[in-house]
Amino acid sequence: MKIIKADRIITGDGSTVLPDGAVLIDGDRIKKVGTLEELQRIAPEAETEICDGCTLLPGLIDMHVHISGLYQRPEKAEMQANPAYLMLLVYKQLQDALSVGITTLRGVGEAKGIGEAVRKGYHKGYIKGPRYITCERSLTRTGGHGSTGEVAKIEVDGPWNLRQAVRNNFKEGADWIKVMNSHRDSMSEYTLEELCAVTDEVHRYHRKCAIHAGTYESVAYAVEAGFDTIEHGCFLDEELCAKAIEKGLAWVPTVFVYLNAADYMRRITPNPTKAEQRGIDFLDETVEAYYKNFLRNYKAGILMATGTDICFPEMFITPIYSEIETFVKLGLTPLEAIQCATENGAKILDMADEIGLVKEGLCADLLLVKGDPAERIEDVENVEQVYRAGELLVNNKR
Ligand SMILES: [Zn+2]
Repeated sequence: MKIIKADRIITGDGSTVLPDGAVLIDGDRIKKVGTLEELQRIAPEAETEICDGCTLLPGLIDMHVHISGLYQRPEKAEMQANPAYLMLLVYKQLQDALSVGITTLRGVGEAKGIGEAVRKGYHKGYIKGPRYITCERSLTRTGGHGSTGEVAKIEVDGPWNLRQAVRNNFKEGADWIKVMNSHRDSMSEYTLEELCAVTDEVHRYHRKCAIHAGTYESVAYAVEAGFDTIEHGCFLDEELCAKAIEKGLAWVPTVFVYLNAADYMRRITPNPTKAEQRGIDFLDETVEAYYKNFLRNYKAGILMATGTDICFPEMFITPIYSEIETFVKLGLTPLEAIQCATENGAKILDMADEIGLVKEGLCADLLLVKGDPAERIEDVENVEQVYRAGELLVNNKR
């Protein structure tokens, strides 16, 4: 058993800070949360680690990652031809995610077989990393978003073919289903009939589904069809949001990447073609929409969670600290933003009885940072230690 004592614990529930808090870890579980004296009385033999100047939080949850996404990566062709090479990138990116305190991530569109490989690698103890929930390959309509191969996709049309694709994905080990439903055009890529076939089929399995919906119509269709998480949802306005809340849908806005995408595109295409310029204009509109919708939707009560969705090859894969800091910049308190990266993700994943809080009985997925993110959110970047299921996997503490 082990006791970790920090200056404070941020429990992850959006409001609670326990000054001078300590946790007692027993195996993979948090056995008790209390004061150091209390815990030492319960477990006098436990090793005690005193972490002065530090804050303990739940391990972070990144709800939108493509751990095997290649996009415009220079090695794309080589990696697509050689899955063994791709797997090295996946391994590195899992370690990168862990290094910033992510102990759970959801892969929302991956190359074929990645989920199975990671799962087996973890099980055998070949590799260690964040727990990994996967949608496997996402579903896109013929010629739809992503069909050009940035991330592996299944091109599929029609209600029954979509139902079969859902079944196949589950057969191949998907935990969730991901559907692509928009790119830059205003239309919803799938019809409502097709989208409802997906949600119906997924929910018959008592599983959940995510949808890439970045334009107004695609968001409206996604809400109507009842997808469990709306990814991006840039144009989720007041009326659609009210409907989403009523249906119990959650929002993974992936704000940081969108707020930076237009500038990135301007940088890499200094002389844009007409089509490229349309893309840049679209991204500028999404920025405006986020500023208008983000805080109002949060305050209206939509369940919101952090997702990083980095698709620029030269950028760090999972800058969850940037997403959390952007949530604060847009009006959330630091504790609320941290809740979006912890408890809310756990709720959406139906894992709230396992992860997402520093709480007795839950899994010991913990992040120790130097400083106090409740006061200065940037301190969430100062990672000292990361525990997954009670095991110390990152240690920068001297
Ligand atoms: Zn994505």
